[in-house]
Amino acid sequence: MTRQRWVGGNWKMNGSLEANKALLEGLNAALTDVSDVEIVVFPSFVYLAQAQDLLTDKKMVLGAQTLSEHEKGAFTGEISGPMLNDFGCRYVLVGHSERRQLFGESNEKVAQKFEAARKYGLIPVLCVGETQEEREANRTQAVVLAQLKAVVDRVTLAGLKGAVIAYEPVWAIGTGLTATPEQAQEVHAFIRNHIAEYDKALAETIQIVYGGSVKPDNAAEIFAKPDVDGGLIGGASLKAEDFSVICKS
Ligand code: PEP
Repeated sequence: MTRQRWVGGNWKMNGSLEANKALLEGLNAALTDVSDVEIVVFPSFVYLAQAQDLLTDKKMVLGAQTLSEHEKGAFTGEISGPMLNDFGCRYVLVGHSERRQLFGESNEKVAQKFEAARKYGLIPVLCVGETQEEREANRTQAVVLAQLKAVVDRVTLAGLKGAVIAYEPVWAIGTGLTATPEQAQEVHAFIRNHIAEYDKALAETIQIVYGGSVKPDNAAEIFAKPDVDGGLIGGASLKAEDFSVICKS
């Protein structure tokens, strides 16, 4: 089974009109010969319109970093799925660990957001992963399973179809500590095997990507693992040279 390779660049709260222009023009130029990978950039909300204008050659598509679970109304500061559609977003991250840890998003809230993404035709990228403490307590599988289960309980297993799962161990995000290719493979296989217990076809087709300090010099060996279908990249997605090397890995 060959799954489409997928690489996303999560810009987090970084960027400026000037820096984004340079980055996207750099990527447009560097990625001309890449065709077998879906490349997604996730700018801050306020730069979606700019990015939409600059993503002209369809090498890359656009995503947002989160969304509201609501459609519209009195939710000051929130951004809805229909608004993201207005700006050409195809993907949206849900449950990034920074949203879970810094903004109190529970498994239930993440599941609501996942459902909203689906409702408005956006492809959710569901981020799951354990903290250092949880890993040391041998709770990695239990934590990842609970994060997945909350979503499946809400949207059913069929609701996962066509979504992307990003395994992002919290201890590896922005820390320079990367999971070894074997550690990543182990959790990816666990997720895929778990899904296979209920739906083999879904398990074979669902893209599971790794995130956590992926850099140009470690991407290829992580992406070479059989259950790793690409990566979600933070820091290294802010440099055209680094991100394009990772996309080609
Ligand atoms: C992320 O924030 O999703 C991420 C993987 O960040 P970094 O690559 O900087 O660890």
